[in-house]
Amino acid sequence: MAHKVFIFDTTLRDGEQTPGANLNVDEKLQIARHLELLNVDVIEAGFPFSSPGDFEAVRAVAREIRGPQIAGLARAFVQDIDACWEAVKEATDPRIHTFISTSDIHLKHQMRKSREEVLEMAVAAVKYACRYTSNVEFSAMDASRSDLDYVVQVFTAVIDAGATTLNFPDTVGYSIPEEFGAKIKYLVDHIPNLHRAILSVHCHNDLGLAVANTLAAVSNGVRQVEVTINGLGERAGNASLEEVVMSLATRGDLLHYYTDIVTQYIYPTSRLTSKLSGVPVQPNKAIVGANAFAHESGIHQDGVLKEASTFEIMTPNSVGIKKSTMPLGKLSGRHAFKNKLREMGFYLNDEELNRVFTRFKSLADRKKTVFDEDLISLVETEVIYKSVPEHFKLAELVVLAGTMARPSANVKMEVGGHLAGPYSVLGDGPIDATYKAITHLAGSKCTLLKFAVSSITGGTDAQGEVTVRLEEDGRVVTGQGVDPDVITASARAFINGLNRLHFLKETEAVKGPKPEEL
Ligand code: MN
Repeated sequence: MAHKVFIFDTTLRDGEQTPGANLNVDEKLQIARHLELLNVDVIEAGFPFSSPGDFEAVRAVAREIRGPQIAGLARAFVQDIDACWEAVKEATDPRIHTFISTSDIHLKHQMRKSREEVLEMAVAAVKYACRYTSNVEFSAMDASRSDLDYVVQVFTAVIDAGATTLNFPDTVGYSIPEEFGAKIKYLVDHIPNLHRAILSVHCHNDLGLAVANTLAAVSNGVRQVEVTINGLGERAGNASLEEVVMSLATRGDLLHYYTDIVTQYIYPTSRLTSKLSGVPVQPNKAIVGANAFAHESGIHQDGVLKEASTFEIMTPNSVGIKKSTMPLGKLSGRHAFKNKLREMGFYLNDEELNRVFTRFKSLADRKKTVFDEDLISLVETEVIYKSVPEHFKLAELVVLAGTMARPSANVKMEVGGHLAGPYSVLGDGPIDATYKAITHLAGSKCTLLKFAVSSITGGTDAQGEVTVRLEEDGRVVTGQGVDPDVITASARAFINGLNRLHFLKETEAVKGPKPEEL
């Protein structure tokens, strides 16, 4: 009989610790709604004590999301656990996830505590959390580098104290699969009261082995896996949800386990997470990368056309990747447009639909065929990614460039509802000139950390998609812009980034200390 593996998603907590991936409350909610559609068992929504913004986000997720359990992270301190409970308590099934280090390296150099002291703190934290709820998870930070008999001792004690989930993290991504699996087996064989709890793992990808280690742990008795969408997370990231889930789904012949994940929502969730976090998915990424189902070799193409299973171990459909069906053109009406978006899984209200339809019409005037990818991008830039108020708005942009002209830009924009400009300036290139003009009009002091342009579909009339990363006073944001004209797309991306910086400054005065990693 197949055993269920519980999916604990930590995209909103560990995933958000990806450098540069700040998510605001609204963005976290959007991702959480997708995680609910995916049907994950637990959403770790954040680390409530770490900052007011994180507290707010966890509370918002706990209030709205009804399907999955909602967990918050808390160090083994009273004030952390209190804040965590305040944030999660309105969930259908709230969970407190508390943790402490168990490795001698951390005990000696970071905490300066003895094993006995740490054991006492762990038990005390779990007992304290149990006053609020019986759904308490305990993690032994840096467990994979800890003395295994000490972990057995701590786990045995915290189960007696009331913990119902025991997490064994490979915090620094140091393990290899055979070794990691053997450690799990040792725990299963030596913790006398383990039948009263579920064993969990949390693997990091520093050696590219997070998914392999996670699967090795499952084969040895683990029944909860902590994963993230697109493998986001500290440093090299966490085990990726889509890879773990599809490995179990595809190799049921060898791995007799199942998850409750609705796999058709994997791709939409991956795209949304990538857009909102500003962390792109590499094209050769398993399951959700742009090339994951692209067959380049003639022999492979021939095979797939005759019978997909010749070279495809799973179907693109099974993870929610739909082939372009009926492209739209400038004669397509509002009704066809609305139906098309429905088909693609977007439910917009009338105001949003009008906005996207207007952009679609102007796009269709300039571009012969509007593909599904163009539509997704329109919805993303007009609705999903516009989740911050538009303090800055592009009004007019005229650019001169080419081999015979010194590049220059003339820009008019709205700043806080007032027209600013026109302002003309020369630059090293048309984008440089445009950015100089916008920076001047917006009165911004930000630094451009990254600028990337890609094309959404093939062809010279394809839309350009620009991603920028901006930094100001330690705040890092991502901006996105799309347009058939790459200079305009660049301007939109920059202004989108400025709006996000402005919003960050307005909403959270100072982001709290960076959460300790688990
Ligand atoms: Mn972690």
